[in-house]
Amino acid sequence: MKTLLSSLALILSLCVIGCSQQNNGDEVGQTAPKTRFATIGTGGITGVYYPTGGAIAKIVNAKRDVYGLRCTVESTGGSVFNVNAVLSGDLEFGVVQSDRQHQAYHGQKEWQDAGPQKNLRSVFSLHPEAVTLLAAVDAGIETFADLKGKRVNIGNPGSGQRENAIDALSASGIDYTKDILAESVKAAEAPGLLQDERLDAFFYTVGHPSGAFKEATSGRLKTRFIAIPNTDDLIKSFPYYAKTHIPVSFYPGAANTADTQTFGVKATLVTSAAVPDDVVYAVTKEVFEHFEEFKNLHPAFEVLTREGMLEGLSAPIHPGAMKYYKEAGLKP
Ligand code: GLU
Repeated sequence: MKTLLSSLALILSLCVIGCSQQNNGDEVGQTAPKTRFATIGTGGITGVYYPTGGAIAKIVNAKRDVYGLRCTVESTGGSVFNVNAVLSGDLEFGVVQSDRQHQAYHGQKEWQDAGPQKNLRSVFSLHPEAVTLLAAVDAGIETFADLKGKRVNIGNPGSGQRENAIDALSASGIDYTKDILAESVKAAEAPGLLQDERLDAFFYTVGHPSGAFKEATSGRLKTRFIAIPNTDDLIKSFPYYAKTHIPVSFYPGAANTADTQTFGVKATLVTSAAVPDDVVYAVTKEVFEHFEEFKNLHPAFEVLTREGMLEGLSAPIHPGAMKYYKEAGLKP
């Protein structure tokens, strides 16, 4: 009994010492600041979102002692998935196409039933993305109209590109539910399926150069980028589209001899109103203050400018990001 009592007394006294040390912050017992985690939702690993998330994380994590923040990157189904995961709190950040950001905030397309996603916040925009269509030369697809009756991947439901493919097809009077054999696989799987002759063509809205198109254009089967017609009509109908092209120089394996005309959007970084200001501030500040280093992390970032990164944002800018833009004298 005596031993039991003395052990209890010992435990109690140790606890008192422990508690008092914790309260006495500047002495030996000071606890290190707790690390907070912020996950960035990206896309398939052969896209540009995945290395973009990696680039943001690399820059921010270099200061984890300062902010007590550690960014991690997750490969996901793409823009639509990322918007929804950010809003449900499963992800803190997501890379999202500018058109998808606009649609979510205004309750259009996939968000028509759920209504305007008012808690969506923008942080900054990133590289341009081109709505890209690649076909197997042997499939006999030389122009967009040749897609009729072919096996064409328009993208998985969580992706950004699916709606772009549907818009491109509709602008040329092609009904994806009737006139083509539409497939809905993830972009990362499409190059392999094309090379295995299980697909005739696939759409992917992505920055260039991308691993997916390098893979698809350097296989056994010859492939060709197909121009998207009626881009003037698309731009007139949808405020978030702009004309762009796919540089032939990035893909020497493709059968093309000139750049391919198409339309496109911008990649953007989004978050939710529920994410703390200091977390969004840290991410924004570190990317902008290490801008040249960031730009060198992917060739698709070559065209980025600080001012351009404040364009194409339709959801309100998160207050944490705004705090940095004000400090830096940048005007969104
Ligand atoms: N734009 C595609 C999407 O939103 C992803 C592109 C990428 O991963 O680079 O689904």
